[in-house]
Amino acid sequence: MANISEIFASDVFNLHVMKERLPRETFKALMKTINNGEHLTSEVASVVANAMKDWAVERGVTHYTHWFQPMTGITAEKHDCFLTPDVNGGIIMEFSGKELMKGEPDASSFPSGGLRATFEARGYTAWDPTSYAFIKENTLCIPTAFCSYNGDALDKKTPLLRSMSAISKSATRILNLLGSDTQRVIANVGPEQEYFLIDREMYSKRKDLIFAGRTLYGAPAPKGQELDDHYFGTIKTRVAAYMKDIDEQLWKLGIYAKTKHNEAAPAQHELAPVFETTNIATDHNQLTMEIMKRTARKHGFKCLLHEKPFAGVNGSGKHNNWSISTDKGVNLLNPGKTPAENAQFLLFLAATVKAVNDYQDLLRATVATAGNDHRLGGNEAPPAIISVFLGDELTDIIKSIVKGTHYKGKPMDKMEIGVDVLPNFPRDTTDRNRTSPFAFTGNKFEFRSPGAKLSVAGPNTVINTIVADVLDQFYDKLKDADDLQDAMDALIKKTFSENMDIIFNGDGYSSEWVEIAKERGLLNLSSAPEAVPHLASEKNIALFERHGVYSATELHSRVEILLDEYCKIINIEALTMIDMAKKDILPAVSSYVKELCHTAKLSSEIGVEAGFEKELANRLNTLSADMYKKLNILEENNKNAHSTKSVQELATYYHDSVLSAMNDLRATADEIETLVGEKYWPYPTYGALLFYTV
Ligand code: ADP
Ligand code: MG
Repeated sequence: MANISEIFASDVFNLHVMKERLPRETFKALMKTINNGEHLTSEVASVVANAMKDWAVERGVTHYTHWFQPMTGITAEKHDCFLTPDVNGGIIMEFSGKELMKGEPDASSFPSGGLRATFEARGYTAWDPTSYAFIKENTLCIPTAFCSYNGDALDKKTPLLRSMSAISKSATRILNLLGSDTQRVIANVGPEQEYFLIDREMYSKRKDLIFAGRTLYGAPAPKGQELDDHYFGTIKTRVAAYMKDIDEQLWKLGIYAKTKHNEAAPAQHELAPVFETTNIATDHNQLTMEIMKRTARKHGFKCLLHEKPFAGVNGSGKHNNWSISTDKGVNLLNPGKTPAENAQFLLFLAATVKAVNDYQDLLRATVATAGNDHRLGGNEAPPAIISVFLGDELTDIIKSIVKGTHYKGKPMDKMEIGVDVLPNFPRDTTDRNRTSPFAFTGNKFEFRSPGAKLSVAGPNTVINTIVADVLDQFYDKLKDADDLQDAMDALIKKTFSENMDIIFNGDGYSSEWVEIAKERGLLNLSSAPEAVPHLASEKNIALFERHGVYSATELHSRVEILLDEYCKIINIEALTMIDMAKKDILPAVSSYVKELCHTAKLSSEIGVEAGFEKELANRLNTLSADMYKKLNILEENNKNAHSTKSVQELATYYHDSVLSAMNDLRATADEIETLVGEKYWPYPTYGALLFYTV
């Protein structure tokens, strides 16, 4: 392998390359666009486009694509060649500023939730100069936003960019009020990516993995993750080769892949990059997932990014580590050492805690998918109840602020936050509670609810916007204060005292927490059909409109898309289960029972004492008759899901009537699996899938 510093970002048209290849004036103009969002003239775009094309062609690239993130959650691309015929019948390689800035893919097949009727199918993609162009598979990829002709966002990037402006504006304004000369605030995220790697040949024998990305049947293997022997364990040679391959590809794309290790479940792993701005981190995470999937094939693996591929062992999440920092690089969630830093930290901490409390519904809705429902609350991932973990030490500090006493119980005459230096609290004590959905981990918040395959655009759009909103409320309370320090003390105290209920440092997996949370009045939205509609509640529409992040129409379209996707996923899963039961499982049981009966008959004919065969055949007959009954119920319920219902009713129906029938069917089938001879069973078992040895 080449030296990392040599290959790092070698396929990226980044600042370094731009500086080298663009005329000074063009570079300066482009920087103003990147940093301050200033309008890009077509002259500048033309020069940039040409330089980009030359750079790419030198690297053997022939095509370019506007690379965008439609609401399917994956990325989309349509490749065009640089090739243009010249007057002499030859060709020249051309790429204009217009082609760089704007594309017009026929977008009729992307979900729009009613935003764009098929007859006006055209959407357009617009260059996002804040995320660098890169080369992937011999194609120059230009990160773009994707909108309809009315300007409605048809993608995940546009609202994210809008939310980044919102938090920057709101945080900068309040920092300026506190006397700082900050001009811009940046939201950062480091997404930790979990995934499963299984043998490709075994994968190809399971219809459920192929069609649904998760096992729909499967009895537990004799061993699971109870010995904790996989977490951080030695990485198998074949897996290590795969990880190395991915690292190198990611480094070339300028992605700071940093940490890799085995995860809790057998065959489960994690990759964590160094954090970046939310926009770039989102693009990079999409690329990471794509490369993980693509590279698996080469190593004889299948990479599963489903939130819960296997019942009974951990599912895969994507921990979203979020912080905000100033243009000077000051992390606003860092407690700091001086009184002024402390006060500022407490203000941003209070804002985040209040934001999570006020918008529990949105945080829950933003991670709601059919797959993630199996994970949340499954004793392995945070529950569906949203709460904030601050750790005992920080919570005690906050309690003392609320009570007006000194930390550690000393009485205090007057609350003077910022005069007393915050006691040092060891960072490590804050972050080892893995059961909390939204945990403060020393200088960032870790939102642990997102599922492994979710784009982090949605969660970060929400976090940026809700925190921006509370910061605006804070600004309004502070802006006319006679004594800013007093006003800030009072505001921090009031905010914490009003939002104590969202803070929970205990075991989020316990059943007591569900009861306590109920008493505290916290939301518990247990399924996607229940959670998703909250995206477009009156309160949340008002929030997003206040910050120009989503319009009401855009929100309604997202609810529609997400619920529709939920229905489609459950329908595919149900049909796959029906197919597997009818075509593979029941015939396998029959063959085995036939064999048992045959042996039993032979035994009695020749006078050999009856063995286990008769009893087992009877047991299997009873179970398979039961399974057949449950199969019919599932088939019936799935057929009865009429499209005439509203999408909300339909999603609820799929959850209540189809998913529950699937669970019933599976329970019986899994019991049968434990009784049927291995060579009769049509699919690789959990044992084989999770504990492959080479
Ligand atoms: P763990 O949660 O496993 O202890 P780390 O503390 O190393 O892991 O952090 C995990 C992720 O958090 C990494 O992607 C890292 O880059 C990111 N991270 C660290 N600091 C910040 C920060 N200030 N803002 C956002 N993300 C951060
Ligand atoms: Mg972490």
